[in-house]
Amino acid sequence: MIKLEGSQLAARIKQDVQNAIERMNVRPGLAAVRVGDDPASEVYVRNKIRACEEVGIHSEHHALPESTSTAELLELIASLNARDDVDGILTQLPLPSQIDETAIIEAINPAKDVDGFHPVNVGRLALGRPVFVPCTPAGIIELLDDNGVEIRGTNACVVGRSQIVGRPMAQLLLQRDATVTICHSRTRDLAAVTRTADLLVVAIGRAGFIGRDHIKPGATVIDVGMNRISDKDEVRELFGEDADRRLEVLAKRGSTLVGDVHPAQAAEVAGKLTPVPGGVGLLTVAMLMKNTLKAATLRRQ
Ligand code: NDP
Repeated sequence: MIKLEGSQLAARIKQDVQNAIERMNVRPGLAAVRVGDDPASEVYVRNKIRACEEVGIHSEHHALPESTSTAELLELIASLNARDDVDGILTQLPLPSQIDETAIIEAINPAKDVDGFHPVNVGRLALGRPVFVPCTPAGIIELLDDNGVEIRGTNACVVGRSQIVGRPMAQLLLQRDATVTICHSRTRDLAAVTRTADLLVVAIGRAGFIGRDHIKPGATVIDVGMNRISDKDEVRELFGEDADRRLEVLAKRGSTLVGDVHPAQAAEVAGKLTPVPGGVGLLTVAMLMKNTLKAATLRRQ
């Protein structure tokens, strides 16, 4: 089994962005908006801000209280839309329940929508004329291409139909001439469907859910899931030979990360597999940098 690591490719993408920014006469700007104090969101935003610093993108972090209303957030978005020094705007999801998430996503100027969630950008992707593509699926395509994984003509299966991963992933694979099946929580006999896939992308948010019976021997498996687990027995069951190292992480940090794919079982059958962590997650942030550079370039043309 070949591990499809994301770190080198992510570093290369960020280096390319940095080189391009050094040749520009303005510094692109990214505004990250976070509401409330969800610890995972805090980590994600921090990683994005750190990547901005690495590549030379000016970044600002708007951390708003949990009690923020839709109207208050819309006001902030309007002010960011109006500022010429802000090229990209991202609102870290999920937002607290009192906020109308759809209204917020639709309020972002599509030209600054570096997450690619605005209906205009979703529509462009569906029409096969993408401008801003959601970062996680875009990064997965880069990873497949970089590793010479064939997409055209293959049976590709995407498990999960979220707006941020599953759906745009399926669109991108279709655009690259794969025969695409989308599965979700109502799919009957999931394993029978996923076992037909040469290329299996899993984004469901359930630790180690996809096991050996779901995977066609030799398939390329892309694990998007990021789930924190802290139960020692679960760690032993999921990681097999690698369990000792993971138990060390658990002892040190109180939890360890696992994807939606059972790592030990998948290693027995898959031809190629992305590790968690160290796979798709790193590329997501790199693609955000690329999208922000693109926004800055397009707005200034
Ligand atoms: P969502 O919760 O928005 O969507 C989950 C999807 O999985 C839904 O479409 C749901 O189906 C489907 N699903 C849930 N359970 C099953 C099941 N038993 N069988 C088949 N399908 C199922 O999740 P996201 O797409 O936002 O995220 C998925 C995972 O990816 C999470 O672990 C998240 O943390 C991770 N993630 C990682 C990123 C990265 O950079 N690495 C970026 C974004 C997400 P239905 O529609 O029927 O409810």
